[in-house]
Order: sequence, then C-alpha cells, then structure tokens
Amino acid sequence: MKAKSTFIVAFDIEFMTFEDLEVSAPILSALKKEGYTHPTPIQEKSIPIVIKGGDLLACAQTGTGKTAAFSIPILQRLAATNLQGNKRKIRALIVTPTRELAIQIGESLTAYGADLSLRNTVIFGGVSQVAQVNRLKNGIDILVATPGRLLDLIAQGEISLQHLEVFVLDEADRMLDMGFIHDVKKLLKVIPEKRQSLFFSATMPPAIVELAGTILKNPDKVEVTPVSSTAEKIDQEIFFVDKQNKNALLLHILEDPKIETALVFTRTKHGADKVVKLLVKHQIKAEAIHGNKAQNARQRALTNFKNKTIRVLVATDIAARGIDVDALAYVINFEIPNIPETYVHRIGRTGRAGLDGMAMSFCDHEEIAYLRDIEKLIKLQIPRNTTHPFPMEVAPKMDAPAPKKAQGSGGQRKPNPAANGSKGNAQAKPKNKRRFFAAK
Ligand code: AMP
Repeated sequence: MKAKSTFIVAFDIEFMTFEDLEVSAPILSALKKEGYTHPTPIQEKSIPIVIKGGDLLACAQTGTGKTAAFSIPILQRLAATNLQGNKRKIRALIVTPTRELAIQIGESLTAYGADLSLRNTVIFGGVSQVAQVNRLKNGIDILVATPGRLLDLIAQGEISLQHLEVFVLDEADRMLDMGFIHDVKKLLKVIPEKRQSLFFSATMPPAIVELAGTILKNPDKVEVTPVSSTAEKIDQEIFFVDKQNKNALLLHILEDPKIETALVFTRTKHGADKVVKLLVKHQIKAEAIHGNKAQNARQRALTNFKNKTIRVLVATDIAARGIDVDALAYVINFEIPNIPETYVHRIGRTGRAGLDGMAMSFCDHEEIAYLRDIEKLIKLQIPRNTTHPFPMEVAPKMDAPAPKKAQGSGGQRKPNPAANGSKGNAQAKPKNKRRFFAAK
C-alpha cells in the first residue's frame, strides 16, 4: 500500500502541468517566461480549489511555491471581470507579516500577471505613505499589505475594502509570532463577510487553527510538508564549536570558493552587525538585514545579495522571513534558534524549488538544549561534522538543561556552565586542524 501511494505522488509530480490545472493562456505564457515547467505540489493541490472559489487552509513552508499557489488563481479570477483605470476596486487583498515578503509577493503578481491588465500595489510601514496613497488613487485590483500600514490607511479612508472578493492571510504563524493577531482581528471586522479566504501557514499550532476557524468557511485543507519536516533536498550539519571559536569557524568555512553566496543567521540585530564587521574586516563582502535598518537599506542589501555584489547576507529571523533568493545553496546558522520551528524556516531558505541546499549550524554549549528541541521536532538527528578544525574543548552533552530565558525569539542567553559536561553522543576531536571541506 505504501509503495503504491508513493508511486502515485511521484507520478503526479512528474506529469502534472499548469495546463492540466486549467490555468488560463496569458498566465501560462507568463509562467513559461519565469521558467516554471511543472507546478509544485502545493500549487498542484491548491490551484484547482482556489479556481473553483473555495476557501483554503494550506500548511506549507516558504520555498514550496506557495506564493504562486495563491497568486495564479487570484489573477485568473480577477482577469475574468476586469475594470479599467481608476474605476478599479481592490478585489483581492493579501496580508503578509513583513515588508520584504510583501514586496516579493507584489513582484510575483506582476510577473505571473505580465500578460493581463490587472494592477497590484504593495503597502508597508516604515516609509512615507504618499507614494503608496497615490498608487491606490490610480486604481488597483490587488493589494499586498503588511497589517499596520493597511489599518492606518483604512482608518484614514484611503483604502476601501467593500468590493473585496478574495482575502489571503499569508504566513499566519509568523503573523502571530510578530504580535499581529489584534491587527488581523480588526481587519476581519472591516472586510466583507461574503468572500473567498485563503489561509497559509508553515506550522499549525492550536492558536493558528483557532484563527483559521474565524476566517475560513468549510475550507479544503492542503498540506505539502508536515509541520516538522525539513526540506528533503537540504543537507544539514551540526558543528559543535565553542562560542569564542564561531568567528574562526565561519571564516574557515567561507574559505571554500564553492560557497559563492551564503545566508548567515544570528538571533540578534547586534549579533548580525558583529558578524558583518568580522567578515568585512576579512575582505568578505557582507551586509546585514534586520529590523533596525531602514527599509531602503534592507532592500539594498537584499538586491546586492541577489545580484552577488555581496557574498554574505547576515540576517535575523524576522528580517529574513520574506527573503526569497532563487538558487541559494548555503545557509549558515551562526546561532541556533531557540524556537525549533524557526530552524525549519531558516533552512527552508535553501533547497528551494527542488534545488540542492546545505544548512550548517554552529552549536555551542548553551545552545545544545535548543538543538535537542529541533531534533525532536524534525524527528531526525542532524549529522555532526566531526572533522572541522575547531572542535569543542569539552565534549557536548546532549542532555544539558535548557538555558534560562528560553522563551521568545532573539533574546541573548545567559551562559550555562552546567552544559559543560564531558559525555555526549558526538565526540569532540583533538584540534587536528583537518580541513572541513577536505572531508566532504
Ligand atoms: P515561495 O514558496 O512562494 O516563496 O516560492 C519559492 C521559490 O520557488 C520562488 O523563488 C519561486 O520563484 C519558485 N517557484 C515557485 N513555483 C515554481 C514552479 N512551479 N517551478 C519552479 N520554480 C517555482
């Protein structure tokens, strides 16, 4: 039985086309230009449901092609009855937690809708609203927004949602993590009851299921990657390393010319800036992207990274949420996230759309408890790299207690001397200075 269902899945992925999903000709031609030959599993499952007009509850992580999964059928629906110029009304609203994500969704809509005459625009906070309001006044069909700016402009009377037909809540779990729940609830009060609603989340904890229940009516459910699974094509490795050697290990890894670009994660903004300083001092072009940076500095860093003007982008989790870089092969977790799901999100930046990826995570004694939680969540022991040149002085002990203050994201943690045990399931090696990549 098992073998049979595996075969069916493989068969579907192999042969399903966008034509089979009844995607319209102008969108098909745009997808071709984007180089999309086959729908991804989330697209295959979601597009027919959304085209039919049903509500959708989709559990899919970033990197699965979820943006196109909602964008394509929305464009198709709206193109069927198209108004022109400033007579256009906002008929689809996509709410997403970060500015970067909003911009990328806008870019995707523009690309997939290149041969249609629908207009989209993107609004987010942190920048002047003038240009955004002007674009709204010119008439738009699809609005992509972060919650704060959206509510502001609704309150000012600059946005009316009374003609809304489709509402998308994107990255709902992150929305909740970032404290946007009240904004979402306020928004639900001002959008029409009669609408199609699509709800996307990488994880489905109870609070998210409850929120979905208040938004959706008899939704079809689609799940492409189990909550706890990490993308299959991503090679993962743990580097046990003492905190004071993390800088040296990072520089060592970046000596490998195979690593053309890498996305490095830190837990804090301060940590991100420190890593950038280190890299720049060693002639490695790097920039940071985090909440303290102005919107245009973040966007510039992202563009520089995409066009390879810089080799390393150092990011905190919140800022990185919307980063979408095709063909990103290396993610380096300079610090292990204290929320296990964040690990899944982080490494989901690589191995996208079927490409191979590599995620390397540096783990010091204080972070062992976090690693334990991650491995419990993904039900996998991540392979240890035991040949790198900076092994721990004292062997890691996997049953080390969790550091205090394990809650929240991004907080600094106190050292935990209790973690410095001598036993563990990965052994520390003497400092043999063997090159890490020589072993691969
Ligand atoms: P998302 O999960 O929406 O962030 O998409 C992840 C990446 O996959 C983006 O870079 C998309 O451009 C790409 N992508 C989405 N759908 C397809 C497809 N059907 N074929 C190839 N690439 C795709």
